[in-house]
Amino acid sequence: MNPYGQCFLCGRNCGVDRTSGELGFCGETAELRISSASIHRGEEPPITGRGGSGTIFFTGCTLHCGFCQNWQISREGMGRVVSVSEFADICLDLASRGAENINLVTGTQFIPSIAAGLEEARSRGLSIPALWNSSGYDKAESLSLLSSSVDVWLPDLKTLDSSLAKRRFHAADYPVLAQKSILSMAGRRPVSIVDGVMKSGLMVRHLVLPGLLGNTREVLEWFADHLAGRALISVMMQYTPISEAEARNAQTGGFIGTPEAPGATVACVEGEEPERFLTVEEYEAVLAMMDEFGIEDGYYQELEPDDEWLPDFRKPNPFPSSLSTPVWHWKTGKVG
Ligand code: SF4
Repeated sequence: MNPYGQCFLCGRNCGVDRTSGELGFCGETAELRISSASIHRGEEPPITGRGGSGTIFFTGCTLHCGFCQNWQISREGMGRVVSVSEFADICLDLASRGAENINLVTGTQFIPSIAAGLEEARSRGLSIPALWNSSGYDKAESLSLLSSSVDVWLPDLKTLDSSLAKRRFHAADYPVLAQKSILSMAGRRPVSIVDGVMKSGLMVRHLVLPGLLGNTREVLEWFADHLAGRALISVMMQYTPISEAEARNAQTGGFIGTPEAPGATVACVEGEEPERFLTVEEYEAVLAMMDEFGIEDGYYQELEPDDEWLPDFRKPNPFPSSLSTPVWHWKTGKVG
């Protein structure tokens, strides 16, 4: 059965027929859509490596965080339809330009197509690792479609607080799903880093939210209890207020649906997103928590409060040129 025909790929469980053009919460039909592909040099050291990470940004999203930095593609739908073979072409192009890996960014809504595309790319010679870079709002059973093609798992663990998850992204079940899917990722392949490049295993990302250090404490404690020695952590200090996005969402409706009404357009502005960067005191408190829980295997960002790295997916290179070399863009197709 076509998994898009009655879609239960993620925790939204919309049950819509995407093959007939119906939209679920993610805002996507069964047609695979991509926003951009580039060689990215701003990921964690073993993800970036020497050659850069071959990032592919998919259109749509199953979560819709109010503070999303990629709101132009996650909510506003910037992207172009590609076939599975065209997706494989893009993977091979990234590899031919020296990418260390294929970094699949927020592709949960397209898992079956991505699995097919990776299989085709492998059959045509793709040999670098494939990396699943998701919000964490994944179902373990859907991820099993990727188990033979993905090598590195890079999920977010945003929160373990269901009340916060309900308020921020209409997903009270986020903590349950994320814990289950992340534990399933940990059981797939051991962490392996060769010559400074991650070849397999799990790295969990957590974005620290200003004013919500209790949230970070819960996540770090859970990681220490369940994954220490089996996974890496990446603590991200880059929270950046996105007032322009919030303003635009207020005008356009923002969320494409709710769990109760997938496909409907409803306002998403909760008035809750922090409008500031992390403070030095918060940054130091998070480092102290990592010490407290004995977390040593992983990475944390320096505190650099600026918004120059925020992407603009209308541009051929959505990121600053120091961070990214474009390979494919939804307006133009292949670049260079
Ligand atoms: S949000 Fe999208 S991927 Fe998730 S169940 Fe609904 S239609 Fe499927």
